[in-house]
Amino acid sequence: AAKGGGRGQYRFYSSDLKDGARHRRQVEEDLRDAISNGQISMHYQPLVCAKTHKVESCEALMRWDHPEHGDIPPAVFIPVAEDMGIIRDMGEWALNEVCRDAKQWPVDLRVAANVSAMQFAHDDFAQTVRKALTNSGLEPARLELEITESVFLGDTGRVQAMFAELKELGVKLALDDFGTGYSSLSYLRNAPFDTIKIDQSFVRGATEEGNNNAAILTAIVGLADALGMETVAEGVEAKDELELVTQRGATLVQGFIFARAMPNADFLERLADGQLIYDARGPAKYRAAR
Ligand code: C2E
Ligand code: MG
Ligand code: MG
Ligand code: MG
Repeated sequence: AAKGGGRGQYRFYSSDLKDGARHRRQVEEDLRDAISNGQISMHYQPLVCAKTHKVESCEALMRWDHPEHGDIPPAVFIPVAEDMGIIRDMGEWALNEVCRDAKQWPVDLRVAANVSAMQFAHDDFAQTVRKALTNSGLEPARLELEITESVFLGDTGRVQAMFAELKELGVKLALDDFGTGYSSLSYLRNAPFDTIKIDQSFVRGATEEGNNNAAILTAIVGLADALGMETVAEGVEAKDELELVTQRGATLVQGFIFARAMPNADFLERLADGQLIYDARGPAKYRAAR
């Protein structure tokens, strides 16, 4: 599969090959220089208000355009970067890139960057965020950090101290992929999240009979409302899914039904030509309260 696979043949990198170790070493070798070779970029996917469909935020998603194998998905290369111990450098690069891009957009859109638990666990992390904000001049409240429940597996005292440092900076915090991990409610009790991102597994097929997804959506939104947090329904692809998550009260919607992640240049163009309309008043759900 490796030779002559051509672009887009990222399966080259997956583990279903017998000589996985050799291929793994190849990925590691390629990934080590991917940033300096200009193969890594940040793409942006809009998050829209469930009621007005106007853009309120976006998620920054890392892309690797491999010269031989084309697009390698982050689900493949992020875990490799973590194992190699280069995720912190990649994450720092990404934060700087994201803040610089967002600073140049024509509107004060929020931008959410994914943070690996390994980045979060490092004492320097808040300092790294601070530097990205200072270097770019981006207003801290426009930056949201998406973390997963896996950060809570670290030392409790240090995790709490990191939350405090980040809140002190003024950035927003989102709990990503909610419902797929340990989903202990104690995480929500002690952590200052602004946003809960409902994992796409609860959204996909939510309207089909025979699963509890719709009830779970309602429960998560209710929980978030009670805690004063916004919700994002992830992975909304179909019209019936959009109707359901809207009816169940999700604040924001993210999914292919509106747009996929796109390069910064395209994102800028869509903002500039009015294909993505930004509403500075914030999500309709909270307008009455403001
Ligand atoms: P995530 O943070 O949960 O990101 C959302 C994923 O859902 C993205 O996949 C996005 O393209 C995808 N998605 C959005 N809407 C839809 C939809 O309607 N249908 C479907 N099927 N998928 C949708 P992507 O870009 O492949 O990223 C996968 C994961 O890789 C991310 O999940 C995140 O955990 C990780 N990742 C991506 N970029 C970064 C990064 O810069 N740093 C770190 N540490 N992790 C990243
Ligand atoms: Mg995310
Ligand atoms: Mg997610
Ligand atoms: Mg996910």
